[in-house]
Amino acid sequence: MTEFEYSPQPTRVVFGADATAALPREAERLGLSRILLLSTPGQSELARRATRDLDSRMVGHFDEAVMHTPVTVSDQAADQARDLGADALVSVGGGSTTGLGKAVARRTGLPHIVVPTTYAGSEMTPILGETEGGRKTTLRDASLLPQTVIYDVALTRSLPVGVTVGSAMNAMAHAVEALYAADRNPVTDMLAVDAIERFASALPVLVADPDNLDARDAALRAAWACGTCLGQVSMGLHHKLCHVLGGTFGLPHAETHAAILPHATAFNEQVVPELLAPVAETLGGASAGAALHGFAARLGAPMALRTLGLPKDAIDEAARIATENAYANPRAVDKDSIAGLLGRAWAGDPPASTADEGYFTERNSTRIVTARNEAANVRLGHVMDAVTRHLHAAVKEIEPTQDEWMQAIQFLTKTGHACNDWRQEFILLSDVLGVSMLVDAINNRKPTGASESTVLGPFHVDGAPELEMGADICLDQKGEPMLVRGRILDTAGKPVDGAKIDVWQANDEGFYDVQQKGLQPEFNLRGVFRSGEDGRYWFRGVKPKYYPIPDDGPVGRLLQKLGRHPYRPAHLHYIIEAAGYQTLITHIFDPDDPYIHSDAVFGVKQSLLANFRLIEDADAAEQAGLSGPFYLTEHDFVLAPTR
Ligand code: NAD
Repeated sequence: MTEFEYSPQPTRVVFGADATAALPREAERLGLSRILLLSTPGQSELARRATRDLDSRMVGHFDEAVMHTPVTVSDQAADQARDLGADALVSVGGGSTTGLGKAVARRTGLPHIVVPTTYAGSEMTPILGETEGGRKTTLRDASLLPQTVIYDVALTRSLPVGVTVGSAMNAMAHAVEALYAADRNPVTDMLAVDAIERFASALPVLVADPDNLDARDAALRAAWACGTCLGQVSMGLHHKLCHVLGGTFGLPHAETHAAILPHATAFNEQVVPELLAPVAETLGGASAGAALHGFAARLGAPMALRTLGLPKDAIDEAARIATENAYANPRAVDKDSIAGLLGRAWAGDPPASTADEGYFTERNSTRIVTARNEAANVRLGHVMDAVTRHLHAAVKEIEPTQDEWMQAIQFLTKTGHACNDWRQEFILLSDVLGVSMLVDAINNRKPTGASESTVLGPFHVDGAPELEMGADICLDQKGEPMLVRGRILDTAGKPVDGAKIDVWQANDEGFYDVQQKGLQPEFNLRGVFRSGEDGRYWFRGVKPKYYPIPDDGPVGRLLQKLGRHPYRPAHLHYIIEAAGYQTLITHIFDPDDPYIHSDAVFGVKQSLLANFRLIEDADAAEQAGLSGPFYLTEHDFVLAPTR
């Protein structure tokens, strides 16, 4: 039977890519006109920039926030708020600044708006940890909750990778401990899992590309969810250990969270494995502890307390302090076990449970396999984790017989055997499964107005001859003549001079030269042209015809069994390159083709439908250098600027 209590918290949240634009509106809503801005010295400039729309309501800036909220600093800031007659506080920064804001709000009773710039999560909690005389004490009181929190994704772009990873692991710790908290509720359960999933996909991206706005967005949403969990439920062993290591031994906050989390999780996992199962399932590992260890290590987080400055002989004392008072935790703690846990964390060893749970079962298959991987290349590790996860999920859904699995292996073997210098059956497989178009779409998100791309296809050949504008690329004069012309433009509509236009097409029977060696001349229906100052191009070819992708191999037989035809609608291929622009790989299609709505490889896009007009006027033919009726195809291409 489910039983829980849930008290939604009153803090208003505004989230967005440029959410600080909402600051004047929020100040107006709360009736604020004399604001004191708070920040760390390092974030002073960022805080002023983020709040510039509040300038007319700003009375001062206290930029001396430091880690662990010393009472002396908070007293000083509170005095300044009183002296200035401030009627509100706006904190812009990480957990240290938010902590200062809470401490000043508590001393002065002023309303508080927080703009978090790390993932620590303090802004969503009614918790304040203050330090006095080297001792950190924690207070929980609903009045500490800010009135408004503004999550502006753009402000997190400047977070260095190390702080990104450290503060995200700090946030993940809130989510992980929320999963087994005695006072958890369905909302915190959902938020915790959602946050872990978002961090799992965002952090590897941010390590490689800290400026990636989509990943920043996902990470900040995860941080909001983690902070909300922390604000709702009691934390256990993990937070206790970090509190002791930070408060008594001066270890850095975020890094300590990253180093301790795998060990504290593994310790509790012995008694609540089912509650922690989502962690291992999401991150990939034999157990939640192992999964967190692998994840943090792959992100480059420091994994050993010894490198964070904890002397080895401090382990016993830390274990003693961490176990002297009772606190909420699913597993009973005793000094020896905690000293053992800290010993492993000190050395940077994997958590204790990794070795204990390393045998493969149907249930833990993904975790066991991904935990074994220790790729030095972060991207490879991420890719193989995702591939393993999805492959295992497919196998679990399909439940193949041994014979069916062997058929799958034989199919792939035949696909490999069908490849040679002129034929790439795996590309065909990727094409008919829509994967080639998906990869193309992901890698070619174009700005508005730029021409869309489509698949390269397997028949491009390097080294086609560079021809005079207007040349005929049809070397055997077979088929209905066609004049192709248009312009190469930029997104502002200006002509692009000197663009290299590599074109190729199938003949009137639907075959490329490389498919009919000996029957068609070499480089038949291929050519390279260069646009002039006016951006114009024109050349002669033949009206293309639909054709089947090579369907006499394993991929063709698969299509047949799936009740699909192998045809591609008639088209012309282009690769257009110009300095300062993204290379465009695309086709133009005949909209009247019988297969235009069912391209076997999904390459058709609305914007790539051209117009093939039959021209019977003799003068027009003569002008085009042709002797009779011909097809005229006109299509402009718009190149996107280089990213
Ligand atoms: P922090 O606020 O000290 O920030 C870490 C560093 O990152 C600082 O040097 C800061 O200047 C810099 N920084 C912050 N934002 C930046 C940005 N956008 N670009 C570049 N640099 C930036 O550290 P933190 O990890 O955010 O917070 C840790 C503190 O928060 C600790 O004191 C901890 O106890 C407290 N905390 C409290 C709670 C709570 O609920 N009360 C929760 C989590 C953390």
